[in-house]
Amino acid sequence: MEFATFADRAAAIEAEPADLEIVARVSDLLSDANSDLEVVARFVQGRVFPAWDSTTLDIGPSTCYEAIARAAGPNVGGDDVEERLAEVGEIGAVAAAYDFGGQRGLGAFTGGGGGDESGENGNGGDLTVNEVAETLADLAATEGSGSQDRKVDLLFGLFNRCSSEEARYLARLVLSEMRIGVGEGTVRDAIGEAFDVPTDRVQRALQVSNNYGQVARVARDEGIDGLDAMDLEVGRPVQAMLAQAGTVTEALEEWDEAAVEWKYDGARIQLHHRVDGDGESETSVFSRNMEDVTAALPEVVEYAARTLEESAILDGEVVAIDADGSPLPFQEVLKRFRRKHDVAKAREDVTVRPVFFDCLHADGDDLLAEPLTARHDRLESLLAADSDSEPDPDPADVEGLSLLWLTDDPEEIEAIDADALESGHEGIMLKDPDSTYSPGRRGKHWRKRKPDVETLDCIVTGAEWGEGRRATFLGTFELSVRAGDAGDDLETVGKVATGITDEKLEALTELLEPHIAAEDGQTVDLEPAVVFEVGYEEIQTSPTYSSGYALRFPRFQGVRSDKEPADANSLERVERLRDRQ
Ligand code: ATP
Repeated sequence: MEFATFADRAAAIEAEPADLEIVARVSDLLSDANSDLEVVARFVQGRVFPAWDSTTLDIGPSTCYEAIARAAGPNVGGDDVEERLAEVGEIGAVAAAYDFGGQRGLGAFTGGGGGDESGENGNGGDLTVNEVAETLADLAATEGSGSQDRKVDLLFGLFNRCSSEEARYLARLVLSEMRIGVGEGTVRDAIGEAFDVPTDRVQRALQVSNNYGQVARVARDEGIDGLDAMDLEVGRPVQAMLAQAGTVTEALEEWDEAAVEWKYDGARIQLHHRVDGDGESETSVFSRNMEDVTAALPEVVEYAARTLEESAILDGEVVAIDADGSPLPFQEVLKRFRRKHDVAKAREDVTVRPVFFDCLHADGDDLLAEPLTARHDRLESLLAADSDSEPDPDPADVEGLSLLWLTDDPEEIEAIDADALESGHEGIMLKDPDSTYSPGRRGKHWRKRKPDVETLDCIVTGAEWGEGRRATFLGTFELSVRAGDAGDDLETVGKVATGITDEKLEALTELLEPHIAAEDGQTVDLEPAVVFEVGYEEIQTSPTYSSGYALRFPRFQGVRSDKEPADANSLERVERLRDRQ
């Protein structure tokens, strides 16, 4: 296909407001492509390379401006392009307004009679889609000294053969600013329409391959059978499944039980480990955006080499840890994540560990369509060879397998959340145990627990001494609000035991111990003195507490040392908040 034809079609698609018509136009475009179908399917989405391929052109906008300026004639400089861009706001329009090759007089910006837009009377017409793709691939592969000049030369060579309309779309393509209203869903539907294959089969093939061009070609040349035969490929990343915000209450209402996991505060990784027949292995690690980050994370590669005996694709998180193995904040992982130089030195400063929560492929089997619990079982058996794993793993040991609890018990979920927070992680993820793995989807099958929107300031009126290593700390704090006409009665609304680390417990014990009014075994009554700020998911009516209400999933947010008990919230406020739910 000539690039001029592609550009004309792109212009028509851009001008089309109706989604269905856009799909029809993209479908026609794909049908009219020949050996260049893969390229056309990518270009129409504004992609130069397949989605799974992290190759980039590695050029800054100024390189592109310079190439446009050179092609536009001797009197045009890169500054001129930038000035016009500041005026017009869109590189395609700027490029289209020049008259490339100096053959057609002045462009629109200089008010002259530029060449026509069809591309028929100018330089346009002989450049093909394949030539553009090949030149851009050469450009991406250009490295070393003088590579920027070489890149400008290559781009100049393309612009120099462009008509205005071709230049518009070439500039946008090069700068990843295609924006003609064609998203992934449009191309999926268009492939179905163009080659008469069901969209769900196209969708599945896209999920496993992440390659729109290849799927279009297979749909055209091999039909449904070809699409169905497409599998995950170890070494080729797929999009990560994503989470929605949600509450424990919602999760338990929707599913019989929830799969509860810790939410690790690190960076998402997808591990691809290939074991050959002769036992040799090769590992690649990709970021959430499918960038290859293998070189930056040698610990992950080493973990895979010593643990995995079979080929696998695993989904997980890489977490920074301190000398005791406790997780460090997310910012620390970032110091390691995309580093290309001095990795050994960076490794001395920050240690990272992988933790895996999903398994997409194991030993030749694609597992995307398996339920979460089956995938997790497979993950567990793959990682069982980890020589460092204890038979009864310490959940605080963040390496290897992420633990998964199946439960319908809110109390247990609360305890898992508390442990996760206490171990320095972000909280919990709630997952539908029966759900399949949907690459790239942010669905409700994976929920990250929502941060609390409302909080209440409650008076601490009781507590319990802890057990074991926490025997000298007060924990499980009873919460009350003000009630009665004068607001000096107290009514209980719940207990908070979550989200409190040992250090915090020690400080709280020091703060509260002087206010102990009575003790009965492990339980203590406290005189009203200290106010806690507490988050919660919901307020429920409940016979358990004297107020008649209970805070569901209360979370300790902090001590309101600026508040006296008289400033704490009242029962009336609890009732108002409940009515608003
Ligand atoms: P977003 O995905 O919403 O743009 P984000 O990347 O900051 O934001 P969140 O949505 O807050 O991440 O949470 C989902 C992320 O949590 C995952 O992408 C993953 O990196 C991380 N995570 C940590 N532990 C788990 C787990 N057990 N299961 C799934 N994801 C986890």
